[in-house]
Amino acid sequence: MIPVQGYQGRKVAVLGLGRSGMTAAKALREGGAVPIVWDDGQAGREAAEGAGFDLVDLTKTGAFDDVAALIVSPGIPHLYPKPHPVIAAAWDAGVPVDNDIGLFFRSYATQDWDSFDVVPRVVAVTGSNGKSTTSALIHHILVENGKSAQLAGNIGRGVLDIEPGHDGDVVVLELSSYQTDLARAMTPDIAVLTNLSADHLDRHAGPGGYFAAKRRLFAEGGPDRAIIGVDEDEGRYLANQLGSDLADDRVIRVSAGRKLDQGGWTVFARKGFLSEYRKGRQVGSIDLRGIAGLPGAHNHQNACAAYAVCRSLGLGPRGIESAMRSYPGLPHRSQVIAERDGVTFVNDSKATNVDSAAKALAAFKKVRWICGGLQKDGGLDGLHHALGSVVKAYVIGREAEAFARDLPGVEAAICTTMSAAVTQAAAEADAGEIVLLAPAAASFDQYDSFEKRGDDFVSCVDAVLQA
Ligand code: ADP
Repeated sequence: MIPVQGYQGRKVAVLGLGRSGMTAAKALREGGAVPIVWDDGQAGREAAEGAGFDLVDLTKTGAFDDVAALIVSPGIPHLYPKPHPVIAAAWDAGVPVDNDIGLFFRSYATQDWDSFDVVPRVVAVTGSNGKSTTSALIHHILVENGKSAQLAGNIGRGVLDIEPGHDGDVVVLELSSYQTDLARAMTPDIAVLTNLSADHLDRHAGPGGYFAAKRRLFAEGGPDRAIIGVDEDEGRYLANQLGSDLADDRVIRVSAGRKLDQGGWTVFARKGFLSEYRKGRQVGSIDLRGIAGLPGAHNHQNACAAYAVCRSLGLGPRGIESAMRSYPGLPHRSQVIAERDGVTFVNDSKATNVDSAAKALAAFKKVRWICGGLQKDGGLDGLHHALGSVVKAYVIGREAEAFARDLPGVEAAICTTMSAAVTQAAAEADAGEIVLLAPAAASFDQYDSFEKRGDDFVSCVDAVLQA
């Protein structure tokens, strides 16, 4: 745990008592602050009371008297579509609103660091897709190369939950747009933007607000090195803005398709080969084809970003390559879960938006595609270019018929439930085909989370294969 610095003896309010909120409250207490906590839901309040925290109804008038800061969980809207009333009350009371990321960046460095040979460094990874994969891959490569590294953030471990920094430590943080939008302090040594495509538009009032939230990591954070995916205009704009010219080594440009050999420091993947260029000359390469944990061009983009981070931290290309070969992959992301009679079953439940589903489809040739769920703003147009690999769609979700209507030229079966979709897809699949769950939609119409949806897919596949 990282004890929070700067609030000794002062009251700090915490809104939202899920994983990150509870960790923040504990870390505040550990640092000598007096947390007062609140959650709109009964379950969160009971958990906090059980852990010995003071519940204070922050919706009541006067709740912010003598409060030094309000710490907000990422799931709670802080501006759009509407600020949570407790946040608006904090604004009116002049109380700074922050989150666990802001607390972490203020608190991670300690006086002990004066005696370290190599001060701990923080790598922060953001972007629309590939954050978890890139973060987990960086962590894996560092550990395999004998470095001491910790992984936290949006990936399942609260940032304040990690161990205090040791000599030479590297912390890899996955940060969502909600987190980068609100944090009052962000000072990563290395910051990564994987890519940008429309997502969470309701929380950011459109694509401009969404990009602005991610851009804060670079603009406010001032990292020593920025690793930027330049396959979209936003990435090109950001890379241009952060560097003085192409030769500026503070920026490493990354592409999952374009050859970037005009100068500067670049890493790109084409046709399955990763190349590193410096000053217009190739200095490193990796054959990514056949790395089981990183299938498809989208994962090659993640590999390029992770490679650039590890090169920045001083690792050599060969050490990075051999660690990539043993990367096991993350559950629910292009994860091969079973094979029978030449049919492969792949779980990409994390493909909750159109772009990630399109990338998953592009990674395979003949796909029996299980899709559908709660559609996001923007519709399915962004998927149309990727439908060429689809043999047939098996649509799940409460709005399965409407979803299927948005898939022009695709033969679609309205299955509604996962079990019907898996049963029919498995029965119809021929050798050499892939049964792929890549929903292109959120899971909340039928499941609590994308993990639950992925787990259901796995158990339905098990049931079909055992029948
Ligand atoms: P995030 O943490 O940003 O949501 P993940 O690594 O968990 O990213 O992957 C989320 C989804 O996006 C998965 O469906 C995965 O297959 C897909 N994906 C992974 N990397 C990329 C990428 N670089 N570009 C597009 N889609 C990707």
